[in-house]
Amino acid sequence: MRLETRTLNAAQSSVSRRMAMVRRKNTEPERALRSALRRLGIRFRLHDRHLPGSPDIVIPGSRIAVFVHGCFWHRHKGCTRATSPKSNVRFWTEKFEANMMRDAKVARELKAAGWHVFVVWECQIKADAIKPAERIAARHRLREAVIGVQRKAKVQKVIRARASLPRAGDVPPLLSSGQV
Ligand SMILES: [Zn+2]
Repeated sequence: MRLETRTLNAAQSSVSRRMAMVRRKNTEPERALRSALRRLGIRFRLHDRHLPGSPDIVIPGSRIAVFVHGCFWHRHKGCTRATSPKSNVRFWTEKFEANMMRDAKVARELKAAGWHVFVVWECQIKADAIKPAERIAARHRLREAVIGVQRKAKVQKVIRARASLPRAGDVPPLLSSGQV
């Protein structure tokens, strides 16, 4: 809140545009979501700078990246928090567009690298942090299971190749179960 006010003042005096670009970390909604995830037994890393957009929460085992977005800065569609300032309209329009474009680019890059991207809005967390945490946890378990099956299938394939077993008619159940 304090930073937003300061940023607004900075914009009005057009002092520091760079400051407006600084992403706030460890915000209250972020911390609320983190503790909800912890309560569900999910282990994660924070602000992984090796990944596009340094996602706020990263679950490496299931390749899940979570962004906690402020409704104002990232323009939550239809949300009452996504207000549009009446002055410095051009500055804000450009800022918002840049934010949204960056968000879309980051999500594309992560998805291309095999990550599942979650965007959780601050208003959702403020309403109930458990709900988004449960969605993430459910997806985590599903992906973890799928990744485990894929790994086992790969191992089976290597074993089969090494043993030079005939392929046809000798497909292990893991590969024929229809799971991806
Ligand atoms: Zn919102």
